[in-house]
Amino acid sequence: MSGAPDYIICLECDSPVYTFEWEDGHIKEATCPVCGNDDPTQFATESELEELAADERFNRQDP
Ligand SMILES: [Zn+2]
Repeated sequence: MSGAPDYIICLECDSPVYTFEWEDGHIKEATCPVCGNDDPTQFATESELEELAADERFNRQDP
């Protein structure tokens, strides 16, 4: 398991982002063209997102 994924997903707006820098198995730099998010920690790979989605509490935004 090496190499960059085809795309990553912006956790701010759930948009796929195809322009990013990948280094040593993690996202080094990324900028979301939709919402302007440029914090590498606020992006996830598709497989990471599936793990997060498995935790329903993470998606529950309702107060
Ligand atoms: Zn975004």
